[in-house]
Amino acid sequence: MKIENIGCTTIRQYPMKKYTWLKVGGLADLVVQPNNNDEFLEVLNLLFSSDTPWVVLGEGSNTIVYDGGISGVVVSTKKLKKIEIIDGTKVLAESGAILGTILNKTLKAGLTGFEFAAGIPGTVGGGIFMNAGANNEEIKDVVDTVWIWTQGEEIALSRSEIKFEYRKSHLPEGSIITKALFTLEKGNSSESERNVKDYMTKRNLTQPVKMANTGSIFKNPPDIAAGQLIEELGLKGFSIGGAKFSDLHANFIINLANATARDVLDLIETAKREALLQRGIKLETEVRVIGNEDN
Ligand SMILES: Cc1cc2nc3c(=O)[nH]c(=O)nc-3n(C[C@H](O)[C@H](O)[C@H](O)COP(=O)(O)OP(=O)(O)OC[C@H]3O[C@@H](n4cnc5c(N)ncnc54)[C@H](O)[C@@H]3O)c2cc1C
Repeated sequence: MKIENIGCTTIRQYPMKKYTWLKVGGLADLVVQPNNNDEFLEVLNLLFSSDTPWVVLGEGSNTIVYDGGISGVVVSTKKLKKIEIIDGTKVLAESGAILGTILNKTLKAGLTGFEFAAGIPGTVGGGIFMNAGANNEEIKDVVDTVWIWTQGEEIALSRSEIKFEYRKSHLPEGSIITKALFTLEKGNSSESERNVKDYMTKRNLTQPVKMANTGSIFKNPPDIAAGQLIEELGLKGFSIGGAKFSDLHANFIINLANATARDVLDLIETAKREALLQRGIKLETEVRVIGNEDN
């Protein structure tokens, strides 16, 4: 069986700068978009039994692709967006469902618990993989069950079987999230909507939402916020090529125009080097960097 025969949309030599939110990155050999979960599982099983390198991506809002592109297959969950409210307070969502869409649906249904996700542009798969969070809450707080594909089969893991930490989930090596069940509560719609509005106002005032960016670049080190540290290192507003540490929030890198992944990665290396040199702090990236390092 060839991947093209499964029925998914396939695009050869796809520029990953069109895929990722930071708008950098070279060509992927092949991007495959399954139309439903069955096709998704078929694609994963096929790739599992082949020698082709592959990676699964959601919205690409937390991913930087090297200028050298991606050799192999990018399996995109962008068409796997089904969301269903069941038993009044539970939400079953496919891996490519956008967190903001889940939030809107749950608000309409009078549910509370997903408000933290306001303004996080990722998917269920990327969100659980990263344990995405904001406003003192994380996706782990509302997860009930996660279905993963691993080694050729789809299995369900309950919340207690998954260890989550700050911007990281410990799922079995190489496993892929196929869907998730969230447990929410009946709430007060106007209070939830007010909270979402407040979160969005804060974001719009403090983050460079109008420029291409990829969210927080670094995890916060133990005793200082990464943004404050970068500012104290004198790097707020510092640019290399087309990439710049935002003047609004120094833990965001913005693509001014035509930045390359190399520009972005040089900024990241500069901050890491200066943090270690000036403050003895080892900065760790929150964003994921994938692909071929050399171009
Ligand atoms: C403007 C902006 C604001 C942001 N604000 C926040 C914030 O407040 N809090 C926060 O936590 N993050 C934030 N982010 C980062 C990002 O949105 C989250 O990390 C999000 O959860 C990533 O989802 P994604 O679908 O875009 O993941 P992608 O970037 O597509 O992938 C991220 C990682 O997850 C893996 N992955 C994706 N789907 C699957 C799957 N189905 N199974 C297994 N692995 C998978 C990928 O291989 C990759 O390693 C922000 C980003 C932007 C651009």
